[in-house]
Amino acid sequence: MVGTFLDLTFPALEAQLLAAGVRPAHARTLWRALYRGPANLTDDGFPPPLQRWLQALQREQPLVSRPEQLADIPSSDGLTRKFLLRLPDGQTIETVLMGYTGRHTVCLSTQAGCAMGCVFCATGQGGFARHLRPGEIVAQVLHAQRALKAAGGDRVRNLVLMGMGEPLHNYDAVMTALEIITDSRGLNIGASRISISTVGVVPGIRRLAAERRPYHLAVSLHGASEEERAALVPVSRRWPLAELIEACREYGAITGRRIFFEWTLVAGQNDSRDHAQRLALLLQGLDAHINLIPLNPTHGFAGTPTSDRAVDDFQAVLRAAGYPSTIRQRRGIDVAAGCGQLQRQSSRSVA
Ligand code: SF4
Repeated sequence: MVGTFLDLTFPALEAQLLAAGVRPAHARTLWRALYRGPANLTDDGFPPPLQRWLQALQREQPLVSRPEQLADIPSSDGLTRKFLLRLPDGQTIETVLMGYTGRHTVCLSTQAGCAMGCVFCATGQGGFARHLRPGEIVAQVLHAQRALKAAGGDRVRNLVLMGMGEPLHNYDAVMTALEIITDSRGLNIGASRISISTVGVVPGIRRLAAERRPYHLAVSLHGASEEERAALVPVSRRWPLAELIEACREYGAITGRRIFFEWTLVAGQNDSRDHAQRLALLLQGLDAHINLIPLNPTHGFAGTPTSDRAVDDFQAVLRAAGYPSTIRQRRGIDVAAGCGQLQRQSSRSVA
């Protein structure tokens, strides 16, 4: 078996059992143990043929690979917890558990590092290390779920793929992970409660639409002209704004779904009323919701957060143009909740 059980969808698990000469019907037992049970796969209690196969397999490789927790840092309001996790090859990633909506949401990483290089982002400043395997994405949900339950919480209800990495740059692994996570026999997180955030990987947006994936799409814009956007999001030189908006229109037409647009507000750079007007013009005709995010300051970027007044003014322009928007509070900023900040701090202190 390549990888561990957490890399396998349910049909792939059945196929593994079949290939090993074990009844595929045992897949349900194994799946329940992986996603609903205490998850010690070599425990007694499994049917003997399944148990024998698991024990033989375990002599060759780990059955499940769980990341090691290096840090669990709560925000001062107690509503956010940020986990710094080490993968078996030593790469570190972040996973954030957020409880302020009343229903727990987990923010997942999809890559170790990121190749997109957004200038204001600590992960982008650190460069790309590697893609995560599906099981390494699934394991983050299990980790957060276990931490939540240990604290007396219920279960994880929502997911945002907005942590380290660009999900559409690791498309196949992300889609496999989401198939596992949404499987009603296991973690059973509804597809309508999952948001994929992209910085504008146009082929990935088109593929999501063509494959009619049932997840929400959030697109990070940050600039309403090619030049302004490219100054913050260098990847926009590869997939220019006009092409990106065209792909969003196609996505909206095919899926009939509203698109969320993320706009990180940087003082003096993209936060004026004029910027808001140009944004409204750009999105004309699209079913769009705009999330306004005051900048999380990072060491590698000199930009500063917008004033509350400018945020309100920006939102007022969007409202007048008929666009719904939400101001994302920078909760958890005291736990370095901006993507990649804790991981960067940790590697700095190790270096
Ligand atoms: S904001 Fe997202 S896409 Fe951009 S560098 Fe950071 S992790 Fe990558």
